[in-house]
Formats: sequence, structure tokens, C-alpha cells
Amino acid sequence: MHEYEDITSMDNRAVELLTLLRLQGAQTRASIAESTGWARPTVNKHLERLVDVGLAVPSHIANPTGGRPAQGFEFNPNAACILSLDIATAHTTLALCNLAGDVLSSQKIPYGAEQDPNTVLTTQCQTADTLLADTGHGTLCAVSIAVTTRVEEPTGQIIEAPVMRRWEHRDLPGFFKSRYHVPAFIENDANIRALYKARRLAGPKERQITDLIYIHAGMGLGAGIISCGTVLHGARGGAGDIGHIHVFGEAGKNNPCRCGNTGCVEASAGGWAIIQNLKDSERDVDTLIDVISLVRQRDVEAIRQIRQAGRLIGDVVSAAINLLNPSHVVIGGELSQCGELFMSGIRERIWGRTQPLATKNLHIDACPDDSHAGVVGLAYAAADKVLQDTSFVNGAFLGSVLDAAGTAQD
Ligand SMILES: [Zn+2]
Repeated sequence: MHEYEDITSMDNRAVELLTLLRLQGAQTRASIAESTGWARPTVNKHLERLVDVGLAVPSHIANPTGGRPAQGFEFNPNAACILSLDIATAHTTLALCNLAGDVLSSQKIPYGAEQDPNTVLTTQCQTADTLLADTGHGTLCAVSIAVTTRVEEPTGQIIEAPVMRRWEHRDLPGFFKSRYHVPAFIENDANIRALYKARRLAGPKERQITDLIYIHAGMGLGAGIISCGTVLHGARGGAGDIGHIHVFGEAGKNNPCRCGNTGCVEASAGGWAIIQNLKDSERDVDTLIDVISLVRQRDVEAIRQIRQAGRLIGDVVSAAINLLNPSHVVIGGELSQCGELFMSGIRERIWGRTQPLATKNLHIDACPDDSHAGVVGLAYAAADKVLQDTSFVNGAFLGSVLDAAGTAQD
């Protein structure tokens, strides 16, 4: 029993030290002892272990008084790499990222959720193998996957997914884990982008924004919620499914939705519904690019549709703001490219329908996605998991890989 306790305590301390280096930057032995309250031999033992497995490296810390730089240690984000796969409807973006989320190499392939899963997975693996064959990116330590639907917690399965029907009950983490022999994680794509925005929009003195709602306004509508600093999944992974909230009192309250219900906000304000409405008005549109182009040409019906979509999305976001009190609402997805025509409807409803305490200092911004948002957010999520895993941090995985590499070089 005593032995068990000692081992657990040692493991936790290594994670604690690594977390300190990740969040606070380079530290001297003295500053580590001060922050943790550990005796100097304990500091030395855990630092040595982190250096041995490559997760910490020596560094020089500038002396603010201008004297000799102090000898310290910092987190080494290049100790290992993460394979990210952001599976969208019609394409997949794959990337190798380091443990800080920096993209080392990436490739986009025209295979996504709407195609046959076997074909898509085969092509994804071929592309991943090509990326991994390029040495110099460090050892692969995790695979991180995003999909365009909610993922059941804690099984990681895709269930009840109208937009990924052919992928239902596929165990994607299990597939990638058995292929690459590393931990694999799966997450909803809006959650991943919420995490990305929360880190990238944070001020210089904070690690991330702790309370943020990200709305993906594309063909469908979805939300990712960061609450009290963590991604909010709910009891079974269904949190954030904002597209299927019913909108009351609007012309579209009886519109049929692709989920089987009527009156969902997505059935009036989602990209697919806007395209259908414009077709019904005899406009020549097939994609959201066509819609955005019509709006830019000042087509009256397209503008009316976009303004109406903004107001309806504003209604459901207002409810979410009253419920969750975020400091930031970030609107991404293709529809955010319609700019103020779209955003003004969202703002109008939020200011009119939320309480003053919730809107004090509230930021509401359009933030069209950059192409690497998904894969970087995936790397953040996977790094947070593996770097808080005691066996990983103590080298159970990295140590064995390093030993194997050493043997191969001999
Ligand atoms: Zn619906």
C-alpha cells in the first residue's frame, strides 16, 4: 500500500512539474522549489526524469538586472509529435503538430465524411504515412481526430448522426490506435475550434479565454462551448448542438429539419436551408460560395435570407449567453464571411434579449476560420491529455521509444 502511494505521488509530481514548465515558461531549480514547496533533491529528481525522456531541456533565463543569465529548464514541445485529422464533409486536413500545436507539415485531401468510410480511412492512412515518413518531426505520441457531428461520451462513438450516417458506430480512436500504437482521441469539430479560438484570442498574460462560445455557421449550425476553462461536453457528449434548438414566432417555425423535427434554427438559418430557399426563389446557387457571391452582388433575396439567418442565430445564441455567461462569442464558418449583413442580425438579437450582467464586456466577433484551426485545436486537445498522463510523462511511452531508437542507431 505504501509503495503504491509513493509511486502515485512520484507520478503526480512529474506531471505537476511539467505543467509548471508548460504554463509558466522556463524555471530555475530555485523557482521550481519556491512554486512547488518541494525540497531541492525532489526538484532535481523530477527534473532529471523529464530531461531524460526529452520533455524538458536546459535553457538560459535572462537576468532582469543585466547580470549573467541563470541556468534553468523549459518545456520541450518538440519531444514528440501529434497526428491531427480534421474530417470535414468533403475533405480531410491532416497535419503533424508538435506538443505546442505548431504545424510541422500538413496536407488536405478530397476525402471526407460524405464518402465511403473504408475508402476515406485508407486514403487518410496513406497520407498520414507519407507525413510520418518525413523524419525530423519527433516520435508520434498521439492521434487526434475531429468529426462534423457530436461524439458520444465516454465511448468515442459516432451515433445518431444524420450528417455522418455511414460512419455510425465506427470506433475511429480504436482504428487509429491499433494502426499507430499510440493513444487516439476523437472530438467534435466545433469543440476543437472553440478550443483553438480560446487559446489564440487570449491576452498575453492568460493561457486561454475561460468562457467562450464558438458558433460554426456553415452548411449546418453547431457550437463549441468553453466553460470555466474546459470544453463542455455534457453528460453524453451532446452539448453544443445549437442547430436543433426550436425557433419560435418566426416564419420558418414549421420548416422540416434534416434531424426529423420541424422548426429547428438550422432548418431556416443553416447554409443548406438558405441554399434551398434561394433555389425556391429561382436563384442559381449550389454552394455557400455561390450564396456569398450573390450577397456581394447585392441580390435582394440573398441579403434578406442572410439578415434573417443572423437574427434567428442571434435568438439561440442569446439563450446560450443567458445560460452560460461567456466573455466571448465567436462566429466562424462560411456564413461569417457575409460580414456585417450577417453579424448585425446576431448582435441586434443578443443586445435585445440578454441580461445586462451577461452582456457587460461581452465580445461578439466574426472570425472566419483559418485553414489550420481544426488541426491545431486537435493538437492542443491531445497534448493536454498526454501531458497530464502520468505514465506518459514518466517516460513509460517515450522512454521505450527512445530506447528503441537508441538500439536502432547502435
Ligand atoms: Zn433539427
